[in-house]
Amino acid sequence: PGRVRVAVRLRPRNAEDLLSDADFADCVELQPELKRLKLRKNNWSSESYKFDEVFTGTASQKRVYEVVAKPVVESVLSGYNGTVMAYGQTGTGKTFTLGRLGKDDASERGIMVRALEDIVANVSLASDTVEISYLQLYMESIQDLLAPEKTNITINEDPKTGEVSLPGAVTVKVQDLDHFVELLQIGEGNRHSANTKLNTESSRSHAILMVYIRRSVPEKVEDDINSQDRKTKSKLPLVRKSKLLIVDLAGSERLDKSGSEGLLLEEAKFINLSLTSLGKCINALAENSPHIPTRDSKLTRLLRDSFGGSARTSLIITIGPSSRHLAETTSTIMFGQRAMKIVNVVKLKEEFDYESLCRKLETQVDHLTAEIDRQQKLRESEKYDLEKRLWDCHDSFNETRKNLVTRSELLEQKNTRLELDIEEALAELNCQKDQNSLLEDKIADLEMSLKQNKQNQLENSTYQKVLADTTQMYEKKIAELMKQLEVERAKSESAEEQLDATKKLSDEHKKLIQHHEMENSKYQMALADTTQMYEMKITELTKQLEDEHTRFEGAQEQLDLANMLLADYQNSTQGQDETSELRLKLEEMYRLHESTVNELQSLKAEFKDQIQEKEAISEKLYAVQEKLSAEEKRRKAIEHELVNLKKGAPEGDKHFEDKKSYMKENIRGTSLLGTSAILNKSGTLRVSQSAQRATIAKICEEVGLQKIIQLLTSEDSDVQIHAVKVIANLAAEDVNQESIVEEGGLDALLMMLRSSQNATILRVASGAIANLAMNEMNQGLIMSRGGAKLLAKTASGTDDPQTLRMVAGALANLCGNEKLHTMLKEDGGIKAMLGMVRSGNSDVVAQVARGLANFAKCESRAMVQGHRKGRSLLMEDHVLEWLIDNCNTTSASTRRHIELALSHLAQNEDNARDFISSGALQELQRISNESSREDIRNLAKKMLKSNPVFQGEMRLGQQ
Ligand code: ADP
Ligand code: MG
Repeated sequence: PGRVRVAVRLRPRNAEDLLSDADFADCVELQPELKRLKLRKNNWSSESYKFDEVFTGTASQKRVYEVVAKPVVESVLSGYNGTVMAYGQTGTGKTFTLGRLGKDDASERGIMVRALEDIVANVSLASDTVEISYLQLYMESIQDLLAPEKTNITINEDPKTGEVSLPGAVTVKVQDLDHFVELLQIGEGNRHSANTKLNTESSRSHAILMVYIRRSVPEKVEDDINSQDRKTKSKLPLVRKSKLLIVDLAGSERLDKSGSEGLLLEEAKFINLSLTSLGKCINALAENSPHIPTRDSKLTRLLRDSFGGSARTSLIITIGPSSRHLAETTSTIMFGQRAMKIVNVVKLKEEFDYESLCRKLETQVDHLTAEIDRQQKLRESEKYDLEKRLWDCHDSFNETRKNLVTRSELLEQKNTRLELDIEEALAELNCQKDQNSLLEDKIADLEMSLKQNKQNQLENSTYQKVLADTTQMYEKKIAELMKQLEVERAKSESAEEQLDATKKLSDEHKKLIQHHEMENSKYQMALADTTQMYEMKITELTKQLEDEHTRFEGAQEQLDLANMLLADYQNSTQGQDETSELRLKLEEMYRLHESTVNELQSLKAEFKDQIQEKEAISEKLYAVQEKLSAEEKRRKAIEHELVNLKKGAPEGDKHFEDKKSYMKENIRGTSLLGTSAILNKSGTLRVSQSAQRATIAKICEEVGLQKIIQLLTSEDSDVQIHAVKVIANLAAEDVNQESIVEEGGLDALLMMLRSSQNATILRVASGAIANLAMNEMNQGLIMSRGGAKLLAKTASGTDDPQTLRMVAGALANLCGNEKLHTMLKEDGGIKAMLGMVRSGNSDVVAQVARGLANFAKCESRAMVQGHRKGRSLLMEDHVLEWLIDNCNTTSASTRRHIELALSHLAQNEDNARDFISSGALQELQRISNESSREDIRNLAKKMLKSNPVFQGEMRLGQQ
């Protein structure tokens, strides 16, 4: 899952491709269902490559985004770093794929806009932030496209984490998609004006969009984790920081090739430094090399995390269909193939969110402070209430006491009064008792005297009268006394009654007193109880008050602690800043010191290495000398053996070829089937091509190209034949061509054409030259060394169709270089081509037609660009007539080339007379209606319409 994903996108043909390339098939063929791409290497071979995705010219922007960028955007949203990058030649659609704004048509939006659309839709702008920087890298200088005055922004690398940052670049917080599109547009504008000022092209600079995302991690409630853990976890909130890079690279074409900027070489190197070193890093990573030269350029430093780092990376490589750019397309595809081998290790980055923690603590402290204030107020009001209630209790208690005291006083008074009353009544009663007893004594006395009187009466009769009188008087007196007694008796009775009543009253009073006393004691007890109760209540309240006080003190301490914590924390963050600054400085000094030490060490190591190298070289030299002499001996032996064999073998090419495997086994001990490949009738390599190439490459490696080329000049023609076959095969590969020419191979081949009589040698040498003539650089060399003349001579001297095909192929390749046209014609190249048709072989005719089409196309292109004027060089050699004669050939490809040649020739107004006089005009009209290919029909129609001479002629014809 960490591998760099690579997709390839083919730009559809544009008008320029259609005009200048109509005569060639596309250089690529896509097989999107197999995720494969076939690249045509030359006329007869192609190579197939596999990618993670292959997009044809009709692929929509939406699908490209979803396949290439969406997975990267999704993983950036989950906290990983990500990169999306486009690589390819200028004009192949990098900016179309990445940077298209699609303001008028949303379906045209590129990856940048679509990525931000997804990001903005997925983050919550309340808790997360999305920020962007937009930069341009040109000539190793980074410029801020959102603040164009910042032109030389430095790159910072955290030595610990390896995190790359650009502290000088402006970062803008993105609010919504419209805001982002506006920023991109501002950036584009700045890029354009900066490039106009520097007089450069935007295709030479890299555009880099950086999107920084910061998301808080939602706190999970995990039941299985114990509460302690959860506490610490929820106390430290986490954030995920991730970064998305979208990079629109500079055009990958080689600067020296276009060359039109008039730049100095150094300058050109500098422009391409970043791209070159990106290529080197990709190579090193693909080959698992221990050293990755990331530090060589700013681009590779910025992309350190994207290749071989911890980011998820997608690369889209863009190519065009035209075979004109085959070399660039090939190198782009190879870049993509190597990038596919790189594996990144994606990593999640989480850190504690100290800012939000600080904010949280602050609000907590605020809450606590407010709570304490509230509690304190509550406590005070409670205290006040209690005190008030206490005072009320005091008051009511005092009042009750006062009431009870007065009541008891009153009762005591009443009591004494009643006691006095009782005493008085008792005294009176005693007095009455005394009087009563006195009266009773008197009555007893009176009764006795009565008895005496009666006795006296009896004794004294005389005294009767007196006695009667006296008796009468006494009787009266007794009655009176009786009456008095009775009164006294009633009086005594009433006194007794009164006494009883008084006694009763006294009892009642006593009872009342007892009752009062009881009541009094009851009141006293109640009083004591209430007092006790209130006292208890008071102590309870006092205790409660004390508790509250201690609680209040606790809360106060907690507050102090929290305040201290906060202050500590604030101090520590401040201190951290300072220390980190100091640390940074220290680290910088340390780095400087380290680099000096490193340099010293590397110098020492280099010195040592050089000494070692010197020793190794002298050893090698010795070994090589020895090997050389051994090889020389071996060569002589082989040559000798060959001569012997030749003597024993029958004459003739066929026989010789039958024996070739034997011969080759003698040369290297391996079977060399490939050497005869070029002689294959159909002109294609039927036998396992790569096996043959590998064998030849192995020979070349073992024997050495120089030695094989030397063999070309051997006096023995058999040796020559084998050597030339090997060279012809090597020349079919681009990579070998330069060294073949450098080692003198081209000269040797031309020498063979000049002097050899052997048909096989002539045939194979022509084939080798045809291969070399595919390369533009070699075309000049071949011509300047008389190659055209020699090819013409070879053509006129043989009727062998295979040889003629090779010669025609070589000349056809030379026709594709407009600078050589005049020389080619003067050296008889055109005449030779037309002459070769005599063989009647369709392959030869096809090559000749291809050459003429090539020639005509180059001429018309040069004419459009204004390099050339006048009638076509082909006219003098009667090419028009040839083209008309061969127009009805059965081979479709030959017919197509002839039709193209006629159409291109018709573009030149100076050819118009020839067209009319030779009848080519009618042919052109026929092509415009009947050609099997639509693009050619259109081209012919265009030519007919745009040429006034043709128009006039056609009107005449109609009349
Ligand atoms: P680069 O950035 O690689 O130099 P551009 O993106 O500027 O290339 O593309 C060059 C031209 O080709 C532009 O006019 C662009 O509109 C067009 N183009 C590129 N790719 C496509 C495509 N897939 N479909 C249609 N037009 C395209
Ligand atoms: Mg571009």
